[in-house]
Amino acid sequence: MSDIKTHDGISEANADVNPNIVDRYARLLELSTDLAAILDIDILLHEIVEAARELTECEAASLLIYDPEDNHLYFQAATDLLAEGLGGTAVPTDNSIAGWIFIHNEPLLVDDVLQDPRFFREVDVLTRFQTQSILGVPMRTKDKTIGVIESINKEHGKFSQEDQKLLETLAAQSAIYIENTALFQQNDIVAEMVHELRTPLTALTAVANLLQRQDLPEQQRLSLAQTLHVEVNRLNGMTTDFLELSRLETGRSRFYREPVHLGGLIEECLQIIKAQAEEEAILFDVHLDRSIPPVQGDRNRLKQVLLNLLTNAIKYTNPGGKITIRLKQKTKSILLTIEDNGRGIPEESLPFIFDKFYRVPQREGDAPGTGLGLAIAKRIVESHGGTISVESQVDQGSTFFLRLPSDFGHRLETKPLKGHPLLPN
Ligand code: ADP
Repeated sequence: MSDIKTHDGISEANADVNPNIVDRYARLLELSTDLAAILDIDILLHEIVEAARELTECEAASLLIYDPEDNHLYFQAATDLLAEGLGGTAVPTDNSIAGWIFIHNEPLLVDDVLQDPRFFREVDVLTRFQTQSILGVPMRTKDKTIGVIESINKEHGKFSQEDQKLLETLAAQSAIYIENTALFQQNDIVAEMVHELRTPLTALTAVANLLQRQDLPEQQRLSLAQTLHVEVNRLNGMTTDFLELSRLETGRSRFYREPVHLGGLIEECLQIIKAQAEEEAILFDVHLDRSIPPVQGDRNRLKQVLLNLLTNAIKYTNPGGKITIRLKQKTKSILLTIEDNGRGIPEESLPFIFDKFYRVPQREGDAPGTGLGLAIAKRIVESHGGTISVESQVDQGSTFFLRLPSDFGHRLETKPLKGHPLLPN
């Protein structure tokens, strides 16, 4: 009998400390070892929130990064349950739980968010997710706080002190990994940038040298000045594209969310490139379903994507060609196709067409370009939850397919979103 009592006594005492605590710390160690090896920032952030959710045994988790430029926190990753619709929503630091955690630089546990005036309700509106409880901790590196991790809705009971300790440890490690990965990616981009700038810079140096010669005939001087102009423009375009891509890749881009009528936007783009097409005697055949409701997105960024696809279609189509544009509503998405009857893309090039700096080899010397347009377009479209793809046959033409999710009805009613910077990718 006394044995049994002792046994019961021990198990009760252990229950206070939680018998699976060792297992949970072992798992934390395992997860953080995995995280340390990830060098892609998007994958890293995603794995961090998955780890947070698993370790604190809750329904969802999210991660926000602070942007000192506008004093907002931005959702950069969330577990699947929350991810839909959240993509990069801005959260003010002065009026949210995450903001409180960030500013006070300390953890916060809220059992019932609806009773807490700091709770930023927009997030639930966007995700159609019901937040009940939140455990949030700051992510600190040696010298600053970079953001916040939040665990949402404990699965059984309430978040405990133990959950908090686990999440704090994960957050501390994650902050270091995020900083390292961002640095690594930045370096990679800089190296590529320098490499790509070399070609136009070499051309410019040669031109500058030649122009200094006293004996240069006037005709040649003029022609060199034109080359100079073209190369400077190319450099200019490249640096702008490069900056854009680098911002997209490192999550420093601001996306606005507003209702966008794709039909109207396409027509606006067609106006812009009309003269260019006329010069080449290229015809547009346009079929736009006017009844399609607006999508939620960043108008300027979407315009940039459309302009890139349309100018490419002109650039890589012979004079007298035709470009067919169709906008259709599909079951869950809106589909835009841009079809040309131009030179097409060789099969072996298709897998690389959205890679940065990729241009079909030994062919595009005549058409100006940087090979960055489609890489940027892909990033932008994916940030909108969409996809971009291509089908093509040499000498027959190419068709680019752009799909954007159309399930945005409820979001249009959320009033304060227009004009707010949302979603750094
Ligand atoms: P750029 O046009 O500046 O070279 P992009 O990233 O926009 O860069 O396109 C990458 C490459 O894809 C182009 O260099 C070209 O080889 C190919 N490409 C893009 N659009 C088309 C098209 N409509 N038809 C044929 N080739 C295309």
